[in-house]
Amino acid sequence: MTDHYAVFGQPISHSKSPRIHQFFAAQTGQDLSYTAKEVAPGQFGDSVRAFFDEGGKGLNCTVPLKELAFAFADQTTARAQRAKAVNTLALQNDGSVLGDNTDGCGLVTDLTVNHALTLAGTRILILGAGGAGRGIIGPLLDQAPKKLVIANRTVEKAVDLAKEFDNPIVNGCGFADLKGQEFAIILNATSTSLSGQLPPLPEGVLAGQGVCYDLAYGNQPTAFVRWGWANNAVKSLDGLGMLVEQAAEAFFIWRGVRPQTQTLIEQLNTERGILIVS
Ligand code: NAP
Repeated sequence: MTDHYAVFGQPISHSKSPRIHQFFAAQTGQDLSYTAKEVAPGQFGDSVRAFFDEGGKGLNCTVPLKELAFAFADQTTARAQRAKAVNTLALQNDGSVLGDNTDGCGLVTDLTVNHALTLAGTRILILGAGGAGRGIIGPLLDQAPKKLVIANRTVEKAVDLAKEFDNPIVNGCGFADLKGQEFAIILNATSTSLSGQLPPLPEGVLAGQGVCYDLAYGNQPTAFVRWGWANNAVKSLDGLGMLVEQAAEAFFIWRGVRPQTQTLIEQLNTERGILIVS
């Protein structure tokens, strides 16, 4: 019997998730369908209930629904609680709905497995204190970096977010406060790349042999990927690998089978005709 899955979000027409999950299903021999549905925040509860009442087994939730999904879930995992956001809902055997967050784990897998980077002992800078920034902090801390600084346009949000983690290696600040500091890894979790902009970064903030990673991705190198190239990053990457890896983790939660991601990442990179692997 075919099991049904979907991604809800607004907008959603651009979503690569149906393609990714159908690829994983074919690869692992799982009988499932996966569709994308535009759902406005005001329709979220009714749409999710209807989906599960009609036999749906699992959902991904994307912008702007992740906080609503967190509130909807009957139980949430520790990583969803740290993120205060859910991107994966899974129907349990007892009829309850489990909420998890696979975004941070997807990023860390892309960095450490696909790109063979070591995060332990490094100084990491996160640009942005929105939903994505919040979701990646816990999984990054699990990698034991030396320092994790969150810089945000609205400084108070970065400071408050850092405080939530109550860890001496985590600090929040504004972009101007980064002057004179150096980081081995800079992660752009702002939405600036979506409009071709950049956060205002002081010169010298990327250490020699440093790595840049934009959580955003597109069919062209993002503004931040280009900033990394211009600032001699040893690697300047975008979030396509994170997207595939967070999906693989969701697939594992739903189906108990871990798909291979490498072939799909290569295929998606070939299709967009640009190489953002170094
Ligand atoms: P969000 O919650 O709306 O947060 C947006 C962040 O960007 C905030 O920190 C905001 O600062 C900052 N920002 C917006 N415009 C800015 C500007 N002009 N200058 C400086 N900072 C600016 O968005 P999100 O959900 O965290 O998503 C952030 C990015 O991550 C998006 O590009 C999204 O596509 C990407 N993402 C990728 C994946 C993946 O799988 N690859 C997964 C999740 C998210 P203020 O607080 O000051 O407003």
